[in-house]
Amino acid sequence: MRHHLLAVTTLALAALPLAAQTAADPNGDLPPIGDPSPPPDGAPPHLKLIDRDDLRRHAYWLADDARNGRYTGSAGQRATAEYVADRFKALGLKPIGDKRGFLQHYPLESVGLGPDTSLAFGDVEVTAGFAVLPHGDDDKINLRGKFTWCGNGAGDDLPSLRGRIPVVALHGLGGGRALGNRVQALQRFTAIARKLADRDAAAGVVCLLDDDSVYGDTLTTGALQPDHPMLQFGNGRGGGGGARVPLFVVNHEHGRALLAHLGVEIDPERGPGETATVDDATGALTIVVTRDKKASATNVVAVLNGTSKKREAVVISAHHDHVGGRLDGDAFNGADDNASGTAGLLEIAEAFAKGGPRPARSIVFLSVSGEELGLWGSRWFADNPAWPLDRIVADVNIDMIGRAGGSDEHPEMQVTPSHEHAMYSSMVREAVGLGDRFGIRFTSGDTYYRRSDHFNFAEKGIPVVFFCDGEHPDYHQVTDTPDKLRYAAMESIARLAFWTGWNVANDKQKPKVLGKQAAW
Ligand SMILES: [Zn+2]
Repeated sequence: MRHHLLAVTTLALAALPLAAQTAADPNGDLPPIGDPSPPPDGAPPHLKLIDRDDLRRHAYWLADDARNGRYTGSAGQRATAEYVADRFKALGLKPIGDKRGFLQHYPLESVGLGPDTSLAFGDVEVTAGFAVLPHGDDDKINLRGKFTWCGNGAGDDLPSLRGRIPVVALHGLGGGRALGNRVQALQRFTAIARKLADRDAAAGVVCLLDDDSVYGDTLTTGALQPDHPMLQFGNGRGGGGGARVPLFVVNHEHGRALLAHLGVEIDPERGPGETATVDDATGALTIVVTRDKKASATNVVAVLNGTSKKREAVVISAHHDHVGGRLDGDAFNGADDNASGTAGLLEIAEAFAKGGPRPARSIVFLSVSGEELGLWGSRWFADNPAWPLDRIVADVNIDMIGRAGGSDEHPEMQVTPSHEHAMYSSMVREAVGLGDRFGIRFTSGDTYYRRSDHFNFAEKGIPVVFFCDGEHPDYHQVTDTPDKLRYAAMESIARLAFWTGWNVANDKQKPKVLGKQAAW
């Protein structure tokens, strides 16, 4: 039977419209989200191709655990860039990346972990679910021998740790996840490393007994994980290091197994006991840290050539990277940030490519990475444009369009630069007006004016408009998942972004910066 299925599947696939071929169809077993809304009167016919089912299909693929939070340069981000490039190719868009491809590479320096980095004890080998706080960018640690239990690593009576593998356990820091606490957590790690170094340790193992803590957060952004190096934009010297001796920090699952291996009791209230009953427990710790001066990451860029004004272009942009995975293996799925905008960009590209006549000006579709790390991808594009900067008339940027406030009939969104901003332009004014056609209500998003990729275009004096839904409780949390996105509102917002780009691409005049105005 099965083989036949494959034959049937292949046949069936060929018959389906382009969109469906892109990603496995999660819609089959997801709650209904209603039929696509009829476009507003007078809307370009293209709008019909921007529909919530395809938006959901893309968002679920992009925000799947398998992408592991799409950290820049990681396997998940590279797969995402390929996904976007395949999509652009399937739409017949012209590649304008490096070497006439869809990918534009930008240089990075990375400090990362060698594949041998691991901890072994008993029949356990830890090769994931850990992070390393390095000493330098070329640490080479190879310890085989006895573990030594060091409690919470703060004691003054630690024995000599020469040739030993010291083990420390950390209980929750408490006090929430505020920045102050993150600094405190980092100081705690640094103090442990100093204490161990003072007793001649070459390195240490730290057991986190609570992954969902500020310790875990600190490591997600400030330490090295497999497939999650510390990165530096361009050729600057940066990335990690600084602990007196490298610390190998394991998540609670591995931590509990290691403490059991040492015979250390863990009291749910008071945490780990003072003593380790197994005094000859042994294991092996390998830490390899390497610096790659020639690392790089990728943007994806393509163009739909216009007609009468095709030398000029409108850029439609959205970042596709996010912050990666957490120590307990849970991914920061980044469904709203920014699988929603990337899904929107893909649907907008389909509408321009397949939905009707071409616009007068060309449309550049730009899917960048490095946004979460400092707007790196768009900065590289703005400094090394794949389309002459002086012929880019505007940038329409979408980042977090899946969690609008209000109702499906009246989504509430933010837009910047607002009328209270010096870079307010005729394009933003028109976009806010178009928003009414979808029932979208806008408030000022000037708080975010510097916090997404349009900013690098604005810095070049190019008129920009940025649509976003603002921060919400799942922002940069593992709970930012695709089941929470509001696909009906997302459909309206993506259609508005298309229509804004369409009007700018056809207007006789280029958008003009109006400066601060009394009203929208
Ligand atoms: Zn974002």
